[in-house]
Amino acid sequence: HRTESTPMSTLRTHDDTWDIATSVGSTAVMVAAARAGETDNPDPLIRDPYARILVEGAGTGMWESMLDESMADRVEAADPEAAAIFRHMGNYQAVRTHFFDAFFADAAAAGIRQIVILASGLDSRAYRLDWPAGTRVYEIDQPKVLEYKATTLAEHGVRPAAEVHEVPVDLRQDWAAALRGRGFDPTQPTAWLAEGLLMYLPADAQDRLFEQVTELSAPGSRVSAEAIAHRDESRRAEMRERFEKFADQLGFDRRIDIGELTYNDPARADLVEWLNAHGWTASGVPSVDEMRRLGRWVDIPMGDQPNAFATFVIGERLGSR
Ligand code: SAM
Repeated sequence: HRTESTPMSTLRTHDDTWDIATSVGSTAVMVAAARAGETDNPDPLIRDPYARILVEGAGTGMWESMLDESMADRVEAADPEAAAIFRHMGNYQAVRTHFFDAFFADAAAAGIRQIVILASGLDSRAYRLDWPAGTRVYEIDQPKVLEYKATTLAEHGVRPAAEVHEVPVDLRQDWAAALRGRGFDPTQPTAWLAEGLLMYLPADAQDRLFEQVTELSAPGSRVSAEAIAHRDESRRAEMRERFEKFADQLGFDRRIDIGELTYNDPARADLVEWLNAHGWTASGVPSVDEMRRLGRWVDIPMGDQPNAFATFVIGERLGSR
């Protein structure tokens, strides 16, 4: 039984909260900054025209360095291996966004009109993807995170491309009731996404999350997720040390240590196995393969270690509609 905190994360408790610029909230800004960077590339894999607006309004943090164009050259000069890791991270985010954009395009083409984005953060898919008329997108995240995104986009005159319903609730609480309360219809097939989320949940919360997703999924529903395996603690320590070294060299603001916000939980279920045992037909694409396929692989130290990277999981709920 878990009490206030677990040994896996020194910064977290079972009922902690945050806004966009603190704790787990700030991780949403970091990935939005990566999308903004990719969008500015000469040959971008994805385009997120709202990422920059959302990052710029989020206040002070490491993401400011990520939007600074001179930063890449400074990192390259200070530590070429670190520069490669940065390029790798940027490519990873681009490939991940690309993968789940395609998941939603396929789901829409298959006739699914009910979408749930779990831990939506600064995901702007409800505003930037080409949704068929009548599509409803439910966004679940902590209240202040949802409020920040909706307010910032509205202030910039950005309008949703689907019917957006915000569900301000913690995913460790009874979010299913909150979702239904906003009009979600469990008799309709749904396409679900959990991107950049599972590492912030302990293993038992991940199981409960997918139990509820399964209960709410009519036949023909689809699920997608970024799944992370348990990582070797020594590798984590090595990455942390390297990061601290060049953060000091480059004068980065490093008030947040993302590694310390995650649960590197050895008890975490393998999501593909879990889904296949609970009424879904699921499979996983190793992110490494997807990066290579899209020509976005960068060689980095320890890059070939098993479990070093994520798996992109997709599944379909068995049964006919
Ligand atoms: N999915 C978005 C994306 O890929 O751009 C955001 C990813 S960000 C790395 C992590 C997000 O998970 C944050 O927005 C955070 O607020 C949300 N999150 C993490 N744990 C949560 C929880 N227990 N309940 C609700 N939201 C949570």
